[in-house]
Amino acid sequence: MSELKKGPFWITNTLTRKKEEFIPQAPPHVGLYVCGPTVYSDVHLGNVRTFTTFDLLYRWLLHLGYKVRYVRNITDVGHLVGDIDEGEDKIAKRARLEQLEPMEIVQKYTNGFHDVMRLFNVLSPSIEPTATGHLIEQIDMVKRIIDHGYGYEANGSVYFDVPKFAEKHAYGELSGRKIDELMTNTRDTEGMDEKRSPLDFAIWKKADPIHLMKWPSPWGEGFPGWHLECSAMSTKYLGLTFDIHGGGMDLKFPHHECEIAQSIAADGQAPVRYWMHGNMLTVNGRKMAKSEGNGFTPEELVTGNHKLLDRGYSPMTVRFFMLQCHYASTLDFSNAALQAAEKGLERLMAAVNTVQKLKPSGSDDGGTVELEQRCYAAMNDDLNSPVMIAELFEGVRLINSVNDGKIAIGEGAIARLKHLFHAMVFEVLGLQQETAAAGDDTALDGLVKVFIQMRADAKAKKDFAASDRLRDQLLALGIVLKDTKEGTTWERA
Ligand code: AMP
Ligand code: ZN
Repeated sequence: MSELKKGPFWITNTLTRKKEEFIPQAPPHVGLYVCGPTVYSDVHLGNVRTFTTFDLLYRWLLHLGYKVRYVRNITDVGHLVGDIDEGEDKIAKRARLEQLEPMEIVQKYTNGFHDVMRLFNVLSPSIEPTATGHLIEQIDMVKRIIDHGYGYEANGSVYFDVPKFAEKHAYGELSGRKIDELMTNTRDTEGMDEKRSPLDFAIWKKADPIHLMKWPSPWGEGFPGWHLECSAMSTKYLGLTFDIHGGGMDLKFPHHECEIAQSIAADGQAPVRYWMHGNMLTVNGRKMAKSEGNGFTPEELVTGNHKLLDRGYSPMTVRFFMLQCHYASTLDFSNAALQAAEKGLERLMAAVNTVQKLKPSGSDDGGTVELEQRCYAAMNDDLNSPVMIAELFEGVRLINSVNDGKIAIGEGAIARLKHLFHAMVFEVLGLQQETAAAGDDTALDGLVKVFIQMRADAKAKKDFAASDRLRDQLLALGIVLKDTKEGTTWERA
């Protein structure tokens, strides 16, 4: 990797609100933690945006030559309905509604999440730890917080003492909240029979006797508070202080603010050197969310089977649409924007194929050195993928002009273009050829296989309505599934 490509890489640290040069604490190693999904329902496109944002970061760090340990957790306990300290666990509630074991819910939606990540070509993390797999570490962290005077027990639950913590440490720095304002603005009275202050949050909750998801602890049977798992697991796998922590903007407060407080209270060290937050996918200006009824699933997106969709769009069209927007800006969903992205992606992919056929003539470099530099400069400037993509379209114009015989460039320039397009389009942006434009069905085959796996998962869970729906939706797209002894195969109708 040349020095040019190495950087420097600048990222906006949401803790300091400044663009800072990224310098890992132990290069070439980078520790990256991203908050993963709560696996109680289907993933919607908003979630996909956040995981795509951090996929872009992960891919860029790898491209720069770093050795990245990427930890992205699965929240399988402790996240309560309404993101507050009282009430039902999201997973337990879903288990009750679907009449399944909580762990069946966890498995079902974890499988679904993985299928969706594959569909959008989001790379797997190096470690994907679960909250239920790290009870010992979490209980241990609660003990350290209590030992240091920042946690107290009340009726079998343990709370984090925010006002006490705020006497000595900054609380609210990440989200720009001031403790006095929080005090006056918090009308919340949930848990106030146990909490000393309305700002305090649960780090361990007592479980009522009928609760299925509970574990023994020094404070009785219970379960960990939602914020605790990320602190315990990031510490375990990345150390007391690690390089980058990411998540959606909506997690800044209280989740990430609480993570910082927990780590400092337990171990005396700020956990994260660079905080990064991805902005939201919105629909008509409102955050896409399941509760808003505006969150469609990837399956609905591909089939077009949703009231907000004029028709279906391919996963790579959507990935490209997302990457054409800077991760820190909101992105509003619209059919028109997706159709424009579809056209853009087609042009880009056509150029990727054309560049392979270009014939050199003369020795002109056609401005390809500068083009390459501008692409790297854009990505090194806080992952500015929209500017990088705009640069690639400059390259597309050049490729097409050379192909039409209007411009002549040398062998070196053609090699540079081939290399640049391959690196940026496939490795960094993580796009895949989807259509048969390349002359074969390889990408389509990969795509259909993901659906076949989703259908097999649904069947394994005896969710025959879902498995039949998937088969019918593929049929509507002209793909016929055949169940054979050797497994499921497909062919065009
Ligand atoms: P959850 O499973 O609700 O904890 O969400 C998983 C991830 O998706 C979190 O990082 C959220 O910040 C993110 N997320 C949720 N809704 C949206 C949205 N509309 N746009 C972008 N990211 C979102
Ligand atoms: Zn988290």
